[in-house]
Amino acid sequence: MTLGELLRESASLLAGVSDSPRLDAELLGCHVLGVDRSLCFSRPEYPLSTREASAIRALLARRLAGEPVAYLLGRRGFWTLDLAVNPDVLIPRPETELLVERCLTHIPPASPRDLCDLGTGSGAIALALASERPECHITAVDRSEASLAVARSNGELCRLRVEWLQGDWFAPLSGRRFHLIASNPPYVAEDDPHLEQGDIRHEPRQALVAGPDGLAALRLIIRQAPAHLRAGGWLVLEHGHDQAQAVRALLQGAGFTELACHRDLAGLPRISEGRYGGGTADE
Ligand code: GLN
Repeated sequence: MTLGELLRESASLLAGVSDSPRLDAELLGCHVLGVDRSLCFSRPEYPLSTREASAIRALLARRLAGEPVAYLLGRRGFWTLDLAVNPDVLIPRPETELLVERCLTHIPPASPRDLCDLGTGSGAIALALASERPECHITAVDRSEASLAVARSNGELCRLRVEWLQGDWFAPLSGRRFHLIASNPPYVAEDDPHLEQGDIRHEPRQALVAGPDGLAALRLIIRQAPAHLRAGGWLVLEHGHDQAQAVRALLQGAGFTELACHRDLAGLPRISEGRYGGGTADE
């Protein structure tokens, strides 16, 4: 059997479970072969050994059962980084790159600032910021030791320095203040039917679900952030597409100003930010 034939067969099977069946098939196939995806176009006549074909079919079976491609490959691209992921961490999503972009607009290049990423998971946000702002001191917090292990090893793989701390939100940050706090916290409501559909079923619940309305973590972060921001510091948050108004009200209630909400590539209001206290953040 050739690579091209197996890819065609796989893609048609995957059409029932994936929005990107052909891409999934190519990624899984090339992962097994240890080659670049361009081989799928340049050499579809590549003859697969029995062992290669059965290894690809084994991954295909897991994908057909709903396991996300990122977990099967053990990797996901985020920003300019190639990150290791496993089922202990949420798979970094493209909309979170908008959060990184928004953070960067508040951090002038070549100036040492203290930045914080709460609920870092795979370390995606902290590491993207570290890659763009090497002069900054970046602290990342997660409650889960298992996800911190993934984040730490991503830091080593990417050769980027981040201070990794274990604890619940601000718990390990007592007395510390930052120029900017970023977070992509869990924000899905516990009875959201999406939790039972597709790839998300395989992701860690604690990275997704936050109480009956999905706002539990956002409420806590917004309430406690002022005690951990320097004068004029920024809080930048990801939230659900239907939570922008609630998050705005929470930010306003906690005394934040210069409130703004930004839309992701799908046009959904997704990233909200606010500034705490007057003056400039570099005081
Ligand atoms: N964006 C994710 C989803 O709805 C949720 C991520 C999160 O809760 N932080 O699939």
